[in-house]
Amino acid sequence: MDRRLCRIWGRWLRQSLEELLFVRVCPGCGTRGGPGEGGLCLLCKAGLHVYDAGSGPGPGRLPWTHALWEYRGTGGRMVRRAKFAHAPCTLGFLAQGMARSIKASAMPCGPMRGPWLLVPVPLSPRKKRRRGFNQAEELARLLAPRLGWDLGPKTLRRLRDTPPLGQGTKKERESLLRGAFGLGAFGTWAVKGRRILLIDDVITTGATMRACASILLGAGAARIQGLAACAAGGV
Ligand SMILES: [Zn+2]
Repeated sequence: MDRRLCRIWGRWLRQSLEELLFVRVCPGCGTRGGPGEGGLCLLCKAGLHVYDAGSGPGPGRLPWTHALWEYRGTGGRMVRRAKFAHAPCTLGFLAQGMARSIKASAMPCGPMRGPWLLVPVPLSPRKKRRRGFNQAEELARLLAPRLGWDLGPKTLRRLRDTPPLGQGTKKERESLLRGAFGLGAFGTWAVKGRRILLIDDVITTGATMRACASILLGAGAARIQGLAACAAGGV
């Protein structure tokens, strides 16, 4: 195993041990946690901004997606901790918030009575091997038992990597994503007639979610919703 993966897993092991020993760790910064909900320290709590499509950084989210926090301040830090450090307390905090928003009927479609199939936005095998995990899959894995819904980690697969999609027009982003996703090993069988909740850590332009939704709808999915922990501008 290369040195970078050893470091990631070492950090994950240390954080898991701290949690096992009931040391409260702040999911936002990894320091000793605060008394607030989920153990956020006071600084991180102050830096966590609820995402509101009306006043948030983007001109308006996709009508069928929902995000909880803005991808800045604590929100951005938590996504990076989940993505690069595989921090268990951070992943747990994000998943708990996502589950709560589903149960509180905050999703655009209103109450989501189960069962919906949880499908994480996939990483390419190369990226997943390099990182050691897919943070969207980890979130979906934590959500499934909380909601009692099925998990479909191999429903979609990423066929190739794409450059960062923050820049460029909508058309350019769509053309970059063309052919980037495909159906997983179970093909249309796993998708046909299912109601599917797409899971990602962050929505930036919305183009990735749109590309995944189009593959699933093309394969016969009955309905698609999208849920991310954070949203950045341009959604
Ligand atoms: Zn903190």
